[in-house]
Amino acid sequence: MTTAAETEITPARLTVLAGPTAVGKGTVAAYIREHCPQVCLSVSATTRKPRPGEIDGVHYYFVDDAEFDRMIAQHELLEYATVHNSYRYGTPEAPVRKALAEGRPVLLEIDLQGARQVRRNAPDARLVFLSPPSWDELVRRLVGRGTETAEEQRRRLETAKVELDARSEFDDEVVNDSVARAANEVVHLMGIHPQKETR
Ligand code: 5GP
Repeated sequence: MTTAAETEITPARLTVLAGPTAVGKGTVAAYIREHCPQVCLSVSATTRKPRPGEIDGVHYYFVDDAEFDRMIAQHELLEYATVHNSYRYGTPEAPVRKALAEGRPVLLEIDLQGARQVRRNAPDARLVFLSPPSWDELVRRLVGRGTETAEEQRRRLETAKVELDARSEFDDEVVNDSVARAANEVVHLMGIHPQKETR
């Protein structure tokens, strides 16, 4: 763990963006996908069903349990976890290795359990914690999103409390007070200088 003042901005090839549920990891990652084509954003496999507007192969690879089991058995996943005690999510390893071999910086937007596995399996990875401006704001974002049932929201808030305590395990912390600002900070931490000013 280093303080912000000590942090050297060196090109980190593999970067993990994690943080509590509903903090806006997906929104920040989408912003980076749109504004920073140099970054290779890993596409995860998941056993959950697509939400409206989500495209197979773009936002996730939507797979069934049997296919997810096969990916685990064939050692195709760099990390995987059951998130919010419900669905399984994992990072296909081959595309990550290929992009890194091509010298492209790779960003994984994953949960805390996955971030810990990456820490073990790829110690050189940079772990960035995306935090909410406040707890109240996190609750507001989760409830306001309206994509989960009340029971699902309660489960995710329980997970979020535990996840917030993990920030000290990370190399850097970025506050998601504004999507563009937070995304630019993440990209800057990856050692990339955006081609155009996006603030
Ligand atoms: P959602 O269902 O809202 O898209 O994502 C739920 C959670 O799963 C988010 O916290 C997201 O970061 C996490 N997640 C997405 N992909 C992966 C992955 O490949 N591995 C792990 N461990 N978590 C993931």
